[in-house]
Order: sequence, then C-alpha cells, then structure tokens
Amino acid sequence: MGEHFEKLKNALKKLPGLGHRSAERIALHLTVENPSAAREFLRTLSEALESVTPCPLCKGVSENGELCSICADSSRANGALCVVERASDIAAIERSGAWRGRYHVLGGKLSPLRKIGPEALNLASLEERLSGDENIGEIILALSNDIEAEATCHYIQTKIVADKPVGITRIGFGLPSGSQLGFADPTTIKSALEARRKLS
Ligand SMILES: [Zn+2]
Repeated sequence: MGEHFEKLKNALKKLPGLGHRSAERIALHLTVENPSAAREFLRTLSEALESVTPCPLCKGVSENGELCSICADSSRANGALCVVERASDIAAIERSGAWRGRYHVLGGKLSPLRKIGPEALNLASLEERLSGDENIGEIILALSNDIEAEATCHYIQTKIVADKPVGITRIGFGLPSGSQLGFADPTTIKSALEARRKLS
C-alpha cells in the first residue's frame, strides 16, 4: 500500500473510537471502493465546519453562533442544569427521555496526568450561569465514573458552587466503573439520573 493511503489511515486512526482495523476499512471505502462517496463526505464535512459552532450558553452543538434548540426552548428552563463532559452525552441523555431541563458541557474533565486544568474546561461559563438570570437552584453532575470525574466533581463543588445557594447532586451509578455516560443505554441513564444523590 502506498504512502498516501498510509497517511490517510493514520489520520483516521487519530479520530475518537477508531482503531487500526476500522481506520483501514474506512480508508479503503473512501479511496478504492467508493471515491464518489468520499467527495460527498468532503463537501458535507466542509459545510459542517463552516456552520457548526458551540452553543454560547451550554457549549453544546449549535449552528452559526446561535443558541442550541434546548437553550432556545424556554420550557426547558426548570431551574436546574445537567452538567456533562461532552456534547455527545447530551444526545445520550436526550434519548433516555429522563431529563427535560437544560445542560452545561464541560468539554472534558480535570486531569493532572493529561495536563487538563480548570481553565481548559467550560467552568467559568458554568459559574456565570449559576449567578445569572436563569435562577439555577440545582446542578446535577452527570459525569463518568472514574477518578478524573471524581476530581472534577470535587472542584465544581468546592470552587464553582462553593457558598452559592445551589444544590448539587451527582448521578447514581448503574454505570460500570470507568465507563462513559455517552455509551450507556437509555434505561441505565434514566435510572442513574433518578438515583442522583446529594453531595455533602
Ligand atoms: Zn445550548
């Protein structure tokens, strides 16, 4: 196999969730097997890069700098925020139908090992929302079940919520240790949200 094929395969391997074999399969599909689908894909990708932007309020997926459909929906202002690691977690929670309020996307979790500090996450914007006009009385930390998420929850509790009059709960875990919320099935997410417990 040639140099350009190898380069494409290596670029694909860097995408989340793709291992060596899937990267090779996709590279073959996009070049040898179906080049017209690849051109269509390129067009769609460049259009998405032009218009997809983070929602200015929740940092989830939106378009052209506007509020996302959830933040724009006033019926979802229920005085509580569901805090998630990634925008893809919103999609997973929405599929479970268990949450009818708004969200806040952190964009990851704290990790000294991977050199991800508080300034790399959407924490300042979370703090702003807690003191803003949304009248937030509760935040639900719907993070994954591992040490980095634990540290992130602790940081939010002690540094962001601190002495604000905001209740703080964390989702209960039917999720296996180390697993990501976005990969859990709707029933598991629903019971994890219902079993949320107060952090003290
Ligand atoms: Zn939004």
